[in-house]
Amino acid sequence: MKRGADLPAARARPKLGRLNIELLNTGSELMLGRVLNTHQQWLCRRLADLGYVVTRQVAVPDTAHDIQSAVREALSRADLIIATGGLGPTSDDVTRDLIAQLLGKKLRLDDAVLNHIKRRFAARSLPMPKNNEVQALVPEGAMVLANPNGTAPGLAIEIESQTGRAGLPPGQDAQQRVPTSPFRAAWLVMLPGPPRELRPMFDNFVVPLLRREFPLAAPFVCRTLRTSGIAESLVQEKIEAPLNTLAVAGLEIGYCARTGQVDVRLSARGGNGGKIVRAAEAIVQKILGAQIYGFDNEEMETVVVRLLTGRKKTLAMAESCTGGCIAHRVTNVPGASAVFPGGWVVYSNESKQKFLGVRAETLAAHGAVSEAVAREMAEGARLQLGADFAIAVTGIAGPGGGTKEKPVGTVFIGLAGEFGTVIEHKFNPYERETFKEVTAWQALEMLRVRLVCS
Ligand code: ATP
Repeated sequence: MKRGADLPAARARPKLGRLNIELLNTGSELMLGRVLNTHQQWLCRRLADLGYVVTRQVAVPDTAHDIQSAVREALSRADLIIATGGLGPTSDDVTRDLIAQLLGKKLRLDDAVLNHIKRRFAARSLPMPKNNEVQALVPEGAMVLANPNGTAPGLAIEIESQTGRAGLPPGQDAQQRVPTSPFRAAWLVMLPGPPRELRPMFDNFVVPLLRREFPLAAPFVCRTLRTSGIAESLVQEKIEAPLNTLAVAGLEIGYCARTGQVDVRLSARGGNGGKIVRAAEAIVQKILGAQIYGFDNEEMETVVVRLLTGRKKTLAMAESCTGGCIAHRVTNVPGASAVFPGGWVVYSNESKQKFLGVRAETLAAHGAVSEAVAREMAEGARLQLGADFAIAVTGIAGPGGGTKEKPVGTVFIGLAGEFGTVIEHKFNPYERETFKEVTAWQALEMLRVRLVCS
């Protein structure tokens, strides 16, 4: 049995034209709209940043016919197929079995995998259900990709080219045989469904496999600069002409806009790629300065926690309309405890008064969604926790509650610190979840700008 940490020697491959990478996401929950297919985005992006482009992506339900016909079709074209999901212990987790069946490979119980599964249950003082044993079944010849974050291992199979053959191991009913078609020589990788299992497995095993089996014709370098507070068209207007000479030399520039943010992707291929991208990055940094909040996959909250940690500062929070979303984002960052003593979700007027000392007169005179209340919330939170900074948000998420003066989407964000208190008035007329996400992001951005510009 091959193990993922110990990849086999690279095999001579026929010279490839375009590398065909196909992504196959399995799961009936995807077809029912119960789960958002984040693997599609995450894997395509990861691959693109490494210089590989996915040529086709399909999602199919967990049925034998759909999975096998999708794999069979992909095998007729692809050099690499990445299948996700369906490696679990339940009856709808059938990807492993169906692919083994299609390839005519027997499943063997892998003792090392079985022991890993047993250890995971033992560590939680739980008996291992018999069902979990199926996760230790490995198609013959497959490489096992260890899964330290779950029970199902990933699998990678190198497939020889075939010119049409029966798809079942001996002894099975010929009626069940899948129609055969020729396979190209390819790698087929199966990854577990849960993102926290799939992502490290991809980085640890699939990336080295990819680099080894499908080395790029020329080096590829890519850097993403994440900007805020500047429209996509303006970003382009500011940087395109200064980057012109580098573009002629091979620089590719891509833009990806989300509410209030634009990612600028700089990439180049070839021996000079690194030099070109570094030169381009220096130019964009000079032009956009503090409007660049992060690099590559860095999130706003990661940047804020890093800045606070570096300056040994703390942050308190008083959230109304974001309902804890800012605290949630901050506490997603490892090490947040060093900078985040705590905060409040103060939804009612009473709790704003009781926990943060917002005055009844202020509420009566200006209303809960006002600059004055945001100010008192921020100052109250900072005082209560003795923090260096406090963020406060109060707004109208909708769909009800808006007025002519304060329509749905109105938000006041307060930031209190040694420097005093500043308030920003925003208008975020989105549905509730987006409203909360955007507002939380804006609040963190307000603090980031204060930290980098002071
Ligand atoms: P498990 O051992 O948890 O059953 P599995 O490999 O069998 O893992 P699935 O049962 O297909 O994977 O999916 C498990 C969970 O992983 C899903 O309920 C869903 O939350 C998540 N998931 C699966 N596919 C995707 C996807 N394409 N995008 C995002 N999340 C996904």
